[in-house]
Amino acid sequence: MTDLTPDLIPELSAETLPMAFAQLQLSAPLARAVAEMGYESMTPIQAQAIPVVLQGRDVMGAAQTGTGKTAAFALPLLQRMLKHENASTSPARHPVRALVLLPTRELADQVAEQVRLYGKYTNLRSTVVFGGIDMKPQTAELKKGVEVLVATPGRLLDHIEAKNCVLNQVEYVVLDEADRMLDIGFLPDLQRILSYLPKQRTTLLFSATFSPEIKRLAGSYLQNPVTIEVARSNATASTVEQHFYSVGDDDKRRALHQILNQRELKQAFVFVNSKLGCARLARSLEREGLKTTALHGDKSQDERLKALESFKSSEVDLLVCTDVAARGLDIKDVPAVFNFDIPFHAEDYVHRIGRTGRAGQSGLAVNFVSKSDARLVADIEKLLKTKIDLEAIEFEEDLPDIRKQGHINDGRRLYKQEGDDSGREAYVARAPREPRSDYKPRTRSAAPADPFFDKPYEPSLPPEAAPPWEAAAARPGVRTISGNIRSKRKVAALFAPV
Ligand code: AMP
Repeated sequence: MTDLTPDLIPELSAETLPMAFAQLQLSAPLARAVAEMGYESMTPIQAQAIPVVLQGRDVMGAAQTGTGKTAAFALPLLQRMLKHENASTSPARHPVRALVLLPTRELADQVAEQVRLYGKYTNLRSTVVFGGIDMKPQTAELKKGVEVLVATPGRLLDHIEAKNCVLNQVEYVVLDEADRMLDIGFLPDLQRILSYLPKQRTTLLFSATFSPEIKRLAGSYLQNPVTIEVARSNATASTVEQHFYSVGDDDKRRALHQILNQRELKQAFVFVNSKLGCARLARSLEREGLKTTALHGDKSQDERLKALESFKSSEVDLLVCTDVAARGLDIKDVPAVFNFDIPFHAEDYVHRIGRTGRAGQSGLAVNFVSKSDARLVADIEKLLKTKIDLEAIEFEEDLPDIRKQGHINDGRRLYKQEGDDSGREAYVARAPREPRSDYKPRTRSAAPADPFFDKPYEPSLPPEAAPPWEAAAARPGVRTISGNIRSKRKVAALFAPV
């Protein structure tokens, strides 16, 4: 076992860290790619990790996606591999030298794309393999020879078994999002893959947290690593406004609609805890007129990439997703994150909230807390070391109509009067606010043209009892959505009347 006490290289003090990429003296093809990406100064993880990786040391890094972690390992690895660069067409001259393992297909795809961009002016080759799609095109790429292989563990093992790739010349291994790989149960796969690699190599492990399991993994596979922590892993950005609303399961969708409208939110992530819940919620919201797509592990790879693309291109307003599918996705400028379900693991709260308020922008995180969530909220309080106050949510359509009670209301909205402790509910009418000069009414554009989004969702799991929020929608007389939401579009009759 390796001693895992922090071992920061002495010359890496804050004062001496090279902060500008120009100070790194990267070789010309890499420097050109970095300049083309528009990067000028290094992010904290880059400033700390790049010099260490250039020295060939093992690294144990606490950094999340969104911190510039990919360049922090990819640039120095590419720099070190440049000595092997060659323009030969022979596959034997392009053995796998760097292996990057990630837990999900989306992350693998994202990281591979970044590696491709950083290495685009070199003769080093890279490719990505992940499950859920045909192995043949991946096999063809592997057979041509690649120096950098980005992979999810399961699919990589398939390729190893099919003898599509040989890993006996691997010099560098990156275990990215290692905590998530362990959560998913990839430990046995990782152990098998690592057993195929040469003992003499550089290993880099990145994880959001250094749990005892992660420390054990590092202890078994890393040699005298340098520990780098860029930020407290349990910190949420101070630019994110966080609200915890006490809402019954039946009222969550109504609350979601109301907040989207009140805040004039153009786009949001909506997190749920299960794949089935994810699909059902997305389908319900779509029916209620919100352009919605779902991202969860039961979707095919094509569907998942398509879902992401439609969100990125603003074709859809809401991305309803589960943690595994959405972790680490590099989608910029998500104005709001809704935790429709409070996450089972408090660390996931930090990840979810990290989707908004990025790069100093302001963000909104809304949490729907039902009665059974008390323990989960307590876990978040403990992790964030902050007291969480639950807020009540007041539904617009539930406010009493005082016109019926003989009061005069000249069309102004009613607000609950503050500071009235008489026990009676008092409502006052406030003068309407001046319209904002930059106000643009929120419009819901027509349904997406893509027929994929018109298809009803077909669950791949056996149907279960409808979740409470669907049951409520089905109950006659219970109004679950805001009147501001108009229904989607008329559905054409399937059969002409005879
Ligand atoms: P990552 O954490 O590696 O997924 O990176 C998150 C995002 O930050 C990606 O879109 C990168 O292109 C971008 N990025 C990485 N490093 C820098 C940098 N030094 N300056 C500006 N943007 C960066």
